[in-house]
Amino acid sequence: MGYTLDEAGFSRVVKNLGKNYRIFAPVRKVGEGRFTDTDVIRYEFITDASEIELQKKSDYSFKEILTPLSETLFFFTENVVKEADRDTRDVIVFLRSYDIHAVKRLDQIYLGNGPKDYFYENIRDHVKFALIAGDEADDPDGFSASMGTNRATEGYLFSVEQTSDGFLCDVPDTSLESVFEEAGGVKAEVTPSYPVENRTRVEIPDEIPNSIYKDPIWDEYTARCIGCGRCTLVCPTCTCFTMQDIYYTDNGKVGERRRVNASCMIDGYTNVAGGGQYRRTQGERMRFKVLHKIYDFRKRFGYDMCVGCGRCDAVCPEYISFSKIINKVNQRVNELAAESADAAGKEAGANGSK
Ligand code: SF4
Ligand code: SF4
Repeated sequence: MGYTLDEAGFSRVVKNLGKNYRIFAPVRKVGEGRFTDTDVIRYEFITDASEIELQKKSDYSFKEILTPLSETLFFFTENVVKEADRDTRDVIVFLRSYDIHAVKRLDQIYLGNGPKDYFYENIRDHVKFALIAGDEADDPDGFSASMGTNRATEGYLFSVEQTSDGFLCDVPDTSLESVFEEAGGVKAEVTPSYPVENRTRVEIPDEIPNSIYKDPIWDEYTARCIGCGRCTLVCPTCTCFTMQDIYYTDNGKVGERRRVNASCMIDGYTNVAGGGQYRRTQGERMRFKVLHKIYDFRKRFGYDMCVGCGRCDAVCPEYISFSKIINKVNQRVNELAAESADAAGKEAGANGSK
């Protein structure tokens, strides 16, 4: 069941939801983009529907609501450990379809990869989602159709799509019907629209031979990538973190432990005791990130980690395109397979002529 509403009606829906939920949504920050006279769209808590950016993709992902950039886990003294207080009010987060799929990846990492992460679960239990529907025809970077994440059919309380005829909302959660009816919603059959295809497409190889690890295709990124980590910061499926102990006293016995976001693209991430470093060049770091996103995660969980949002392409200061890298890997895998078949044919021919 769904509803159509005018602008005032959708505004009333958001106001009414705001009585029971905090609402976290993409907001356009005019003039705050990285170039002169450009905007940036990032997530914030909002109180009014007019603040929500429903047309354009956000530059930054929603993930800080589930995995804060810096989160105090607990405080400690010499004798006592006290868990940090947190805001336990429920939250509704407005997400596009690929971001709803990204939540599945975050849940997989934190809740379905060995013992559940206690701190993540405590936050996750209070977070629900609303789907921002639309065809995203003007998105130059996203490739969610190639990744199979262009459509979300579950995992949301309601959807919203802003059209010239008003706001179309699919409301699978029947407990919210009264909210939409009180706001003047007119009952209608609503199917959320989604990008059937994107301007950017990728092809992901089913199997990748081990020889790709030493392949020269990665050298380009040692030359181009500056290791800023922006691509991982905006990625809705990057989950790496590190721990920081902050001491309040010189003896180091009173303080707090924080979990802070980290990035496999930043120098120092793979440092180990004794001065070792597993991945020293940006090419090696890129190889690790790319194969994790389109191969290693799938080997473990059966689906790809990357959801094709395209945010990493848009944010890279060196104009490195993740979608182009995926297609380069695919092309290289095909070349390696052809070389291997050619070598096998020659060997068979040589054996036959003996
Ligand atoms: S790797 Fe890039 S395209 Fe894929 S989910 Fe992350 S930010 Fe989006
Ligand atoms: S954003 Fe670009 S330059 Fe920065 S780490 Fe990622 S790929 Fe490298």
